[in-house]
This record gives sequence, C-alpha cells and structure tokens, in this order.
Amino acid sequence: MKKIIIIGAGGVGQVVAHKCAQLPEVFSEIILASRTQSKCDDIAKQIKASYDRDIETDQVDADSVPDLVRLFEKYDPFMVINVALPYQDLTIMDACLEKKVHYLDTANYEPLDTAKFEYKWQWEYQDKFKEAGLMALLGSGFDPGATNMFTAYAAKHYFDEIHTLDIIDVNGGDHGYPFATNFNPEINIREVTAECRHWESGEFITTPAMSTNQEFTCPDSVGTYNIYRMYHEELESLTKHYPTLKRAQFWMSFGDSYLKHLEVLGNVGMTGIEPVNFNGQEIIPLQFLKELLPEPSTLGPRTTGKTCIGCVVTGIKKGKARTVYVYNIKDHQDCYGEVQSQAISYTTGVPAMIGAKMMVEGKWLKEGVWNMEQLDPDPFMDEMNKQGLPWQVIEEPGFDLI
Ligand code: NDP
Repeated sequence: MKKIIIIGAGGVGQVVAHKCAQLPEVFSEIILASRTQSKCDDIAKQIKASYDRDIETDQVDADSVPDLVRLFEKYDPFMVINVALPYQDLTIMDACLEKKVHYLDTANYEPLDTAKFEYKWQWEYQDKFKEAGLMALLGSGFDPGATNMFTAYAAKHYFDEIHTLDIIDVNGGDHGYPFATNFNPEINIREVTAECRHWESGEFITTPAMSTNQEFTCPDSVGTYNIYRMYHEELESLTKHYPTLKRAQFWMSFGDSYLKHLEVLGNVGMTGIEPVNFNGQEIIPLQFLKELLPEPSTLGPRTTGKTCIGCVVTGIKKGKARTVYVYNIKDHQDCYGEVQSQAISYTTGVPAMIGAKMMVEGKWLKEGVWNMEQLDPDPFMDEMNKQGLPWQVIEEPGFDLI
C-alpha cells in the first residue's frame, strides 16, 4: 500500500484517478495535482460519489522543478504518475531525483518548439535514476504501453524470433462533432502532421505524412476502416529492444471528415507550432486552435462505438513461419458508464494505473529508466484482463497487410 501523486487532471488524469481509487489496497493515498486545481476538485467529487473515497487535490506548475519539489516535500509520495503533457516529463523527472520519488509516464518528452518524439532525452537519465535507486517507467499508456506489452507477450510466448510488427490503432468511435480530437488536441495534431517514419532493414525510412494507407477489417464486427501509416514513439524502443525486427510500422484509422478538416487547417497555417505575431502578441497557431476545439474530456457522454488496438507480429518458431495478432476491443459507452470518460482516455489511463500497480507491488520495481517491453509482460497482461482491458490472441489471422 503506497501513497501516489497523479499530475495532470485532463482526460487521462481523470481515468487514472478513478482506476487508482478503485484499488485502495494498492493505492492507499492519492493526491491529484494539476495546473488548474478546480479540475482536480471536480474529479475528486466524482470519486467520492462513485466509491465513497476521499482523495486530496493540489495545484502545481509542472514546468517548474522548485514547485514540484515543494509538492513532493508536502506529501512525500512513493511515486508520481505523470499524465500532464509531454513537455513536463523532464522537469518531473528532475524533481523525482531531488526528492527520491519513482516516476511513470505515458508519452515521451517533447520540446515545445519541435515535434520530435524521441526517447533520447529520457534515456539520458538512465545513470541518474540507477544511482538514486529509483525507477522511471516510460510510456505506460496504450500506444505506447499496452502495444509494447502485446509485442513482448507475443515475442515471449509465440516466437523464437520476431521479424515484422504492425501496430494497428482503430478508433471506430463517433462523437458527432465535424472535428475534435480524442486526446489533447495540440499533442494529437503534432503527432499526425509529423512526417511518417517506419523501420525497414535496419533504419527508419521517412515518407510524407499520411501518404500510405490501406483498409483493415477489425475482428468481432467492429468494422472496416482506412488506416494510415504514421510514426509513433514505441517504434523507436521496440526496434531497439527487438533487433531481429526487419520491419516495424504503426497504423491509425482516420475518418474522411477528420482528414479534410486537418488538411484545410494545415493549408491555412492553423496547425503550425512556430509563434506568429497577432495584434502585438505572440501566439502559436496550434495552441490557439486547441482553445477552439472541444475538450477531449467532454467527449465521453456523446461518443459511441468501439476502439480496436492491437499488434500483428510475424516471425519464426521452431523454424516455421507464423503470424499472431494480439488485440483489445473497448466500447466507448462502457468506459463512460464506469469512469465518465471515453475509450481513448480509458485505454491510456488503465495501463498507467497497471504500470503503477506493478511498481507499488514490487513486481516490476527496479532501478533505472525502462521501456515497457524490457519488463516481464505476463503480470501486466494478467492485470489488463482484470482491470477493464481484456485482450485476445488470434493465430494466423489471415490479414492481407501491405
Ligand atoms: P489533457 O490536455 O486533457 O490534460 C493534460 C493535463 O495536464 C491538464 O489537466 C493540464 O492542466 C495539465 N497540465 C498541462 N501543463 C501543465 C503544467 N505545466 N503543470 C501542471 N499541469 C499541467 O491531455 P490528456 O489527458 O488527453 O493527455 C495526458 C497525457 O497522456 C499526454 O501526455 C498525452 O500525450 C498522453 N497520452 C498517451 C496516450 C498513450 O496511449 N500512451 C494516449 C493519449 C494520451 P489544465 O487543465 O490547466 O490545462
């Protein structure tokens, strides 16, 4: 039983707070802190009403190491679950080192001025975390997170050697808006407008954003969707930790309306991350656009349909070629019924809670900076089945992927 601090009270923070509150035998005390304390208070009220449990709330500027240190001094937590934005990863890691707090996040560090998606800045903390006797668990969301676990689980139980990986993220949900993003709009749009990179024959190949697509039919009648190849951060760690991979690609489904809006917004400069001068004030177009779009945390009640996210892995076992598909399907309205949130926040927040549970219970606790696939997938996969993200395996799924 341990005391934890959750930083960030957006869509994902809300789910993490609910899921941790459901397990008082693991997370004995919970503090939810964010830039806007009233958002933490609203979530605390939901938790009181849902589970009759009190959590504490606080205000913190996670861009400021001294402010984080003050927060950690006040509560002396075992670990922090960072579900603020990727820009805050390094300041939170610095404060963890200063006050001896374990660390977990769901997205790799990004500098504000370039959309890079690289682990290099966080991997550089390896020695510091080791020397401090602390653990930093990187990317414990769904993708990255569960997708790393699906790959590791397949590699461990189905293959002697894995050769190709296709991570396929389908959101068959409908929120009824012509254009909205399911998680933080700024981070989402930076990700989908970035150049595509995929791993092929020992190197990353760059192609224009959204230039390669194909149809994919999900199992269990979720439907057929257009999926687009794009870069996603887990490709970097998975190709590093599975050097036998000859090709690794990430695919995400997008609807025509989403793509049309994105194209127009891009054409008029609204998705830019360079500051522009407007009436004597510097603004970043993408940050202004975020203010106009619906908050992802408000999409819950109006989103219907299902997500279907999984990994298609090929390789060899005992000299024979084989293909395995490991996946989870989640219904948006089921998530709303449980934690008042849509499935994108849910599928991110549940693995964050499970990663923290692995650390609190000592199953994964070890010094240093770790990506998910470096740890034993079995206890994590067991927990996914218990905590709301049951998964399936299809051997020889017969997909015809490019
Ligand atoms: P939101 O924008 O909904 O929430 C972010 C929260 O962080 C807000 O409460 C915000 O405060 C707070 N915050 C931002 N800056 C600061 C700061 N300087 N100090 C303190 N708090 C701050 O984002 P999401 O909940 O959608 O996403 C959270 C994280 O999860 C992101 O890093 C995202 O990339 C990641 N993610 C990972 C996924 C995965 O599968 N691995 C999938 C989806 C998301 P305020 O309310 O005041 O703005």
